Amino acid sequence: MILDQFSLKGKVAIVTGSNTGLGQGICRAFVEAGAKVVGVSRRPSTETAEMLGKNFHNVIADLSSLDVIPGIIADTLDKFGRIDILVNNAGIIKRQDSLEFSEENWDSVINVNLKTVFFLTQAVAQQFVAQKSGGKIINIASMLSYQGGIRVPSYTASKSAIKGVTMTLANEWAKYGINVNGIAPGYMATNNTEQLRQDEDRSADILARIPAGRWGTPADLEGAAVFLASSASDYVNGFTLAVDGGWLGR
Ligand code: NAP
Repeated sequence: MILDQFSLKGKVAIVTGSNTGLGQGICRAFVEAGAKVVGVSRRPSTETAEMLGKNFHNVIADLSSLDVIPGIIADTLDKFGRIDILVNNAGIIKRQDSLEFSEENWDSVINVNLKTVFFLTQAVAQQFVAQKSGGKIINIASMLSYQGGIRVPSYTASKSAIKGVTMTLANEWAKYGINVNGIAPGYMATNNTEQLRQDEDRSADILARIPAGRWGTPADLEGAAVFLASSASDYVNGFTLAVDGGWLGR
């Protein structure tokens, strides 16, 4: 049955940024599809845990440092015994004119959105290889993996790089049965875009360009996430899929 290929029954996933927004939606969808999920968050994922019960385990970790990576892997193996899926969703954005853009706004974004993503992915892929199981890695990219954006140079650098690194890792790891892909969300109504949505002019400009005529929601991303986490996508390697209401095609 074709729908069986989308099932995540018996799978164990790590999802970063599980307390809110897109990450919370992905955790919910994965559990609904049959997986057990370890959600990594800086603040407790209380709401997500209440929603998902025993199929969800929260690991508190600040992903601005690499020091937390061994603990995330160990906690996941301790709780659920294996790892099959990693979603690198946690991310930050800093808005400032490029003429004044600070080193701190550069380094903080590159650390969370790119450096930690690479080394957490490496650690999870090492576990996939040790398990001889293959696995699925999904990097949450952005429209700014394809476009320049305005006043967000470090975010654009990180998200453009993530799209490239997704292809590098797909090339190296396909032979281990590891699929590395990305999802590029369009303009979604979450904390990440709150400042933008409060700016009436920018918000109106953005809405006018979205063919679907509305901001996206966490629920809009769930189908793509389950697809790329499941065996339905076994022959999809190194691609970053836009879920954007048509923004990029405009
Ligand atoms: P969000 O609600 O702000 O969620 C971001 C998540 O990342 C939160 O759970 C946040 O935790 C976590 N996070 C940030 N820094 C962290 C750190 N140092 N350690 C651990 N967790 C950390 O925004 P979102 O829209 O759901 O964003 C999710 C992903 O989608 C991000 O990678 C973002 O760049 C990407 N994205 C979003 C949009 C959009 O329109 N919303 C578009 C394209 C791409 P805290 O709550 O504790 O800060």
